[in-house]
Amino acid sequence: MPDASILKQLDALESIAKIDATTRKVEQEIQEVPARLADLKRDVERVEEMLAREHHQVAEAEDLKRKNEGEAASHAEVLSRSRAKAAGARNTREHDASQRELETLRRLSSERDDELLKLMGILDELRGRIASHEQDLAKLRDLLTTEQANAETRLAELRAERDRAATGRQELAAVVDKLVLRRYDQIRGRRGDGLAEAKDGTCMGCRMSIAPQLYNTIQRLISIEQCPFCQRTLIWRPPPPKD
Ligand SMILES: [Zn+2]
Repeated sequence: MPDASILKQLDALESIAKIDATTRKVEQEIQEVPARLADLKRDVERVEEMLAREHHQVAEAEDLKRKNEGEAASHAEVLSRSRAKAAGARNTREHDASQRELETLRRLSSERDDELLKLMGILDELRGRIASHEQDLAKLRDLLTTEQANAETRLAELRAERDRAATGRQELAAVVDKLVLRRYDQIRGRRGDGLAEAKDGTCMGCRMSIAPQLYNTIQRLISIEQCPFCQRTLIWRPPPPKD
């Protein structure tokens, strides 16, 4: 004769396992709320760092541009002095020397102009990038603010859901043998779930075959056993009676 209290305990364990599965799901959602906020914060920080780098690059390019412009101004003076000197050349030798000097000065001046143009192009590109990244940052910050505001509400909802789901667990736990319950909780802590159905000689938790002698004990409902492989508490359901 099967022990009635074993059946009752297995029923209670099955209900407890359902409660625990729901609670676990809600717990995971609870953990996802701050994780998502942390992700968003990291995104904001990444864009902020990128913008800081780009502003630094702009400052560097502007520095270089100012230096070039300063040199161009003093260069213009040298060039006009050189032109005056060329105009006052007294002989061919002096004239040739002046022309060579002027040529060098013009080449240097044109190189500087090229560099200035290049710098202005770089600055334009950098400023365009900064403008678009500032838009990204504003959007991300808005999203973070909204999510932060919603997080507290969502967490409160989820905690209430978890408490609702856990209703009645204590009463059910009182029905189950303390040692059986402790083993179940231990394995649940380790694996996420602690109960598995024994069916057709197999543990449905780990899909390993159960030794015939053990399977027999389970079917006779004389004790509550654990799977020797995954340690889950095994539950066995008699097949529905045929009429
Ligand atoms: Zn198993």
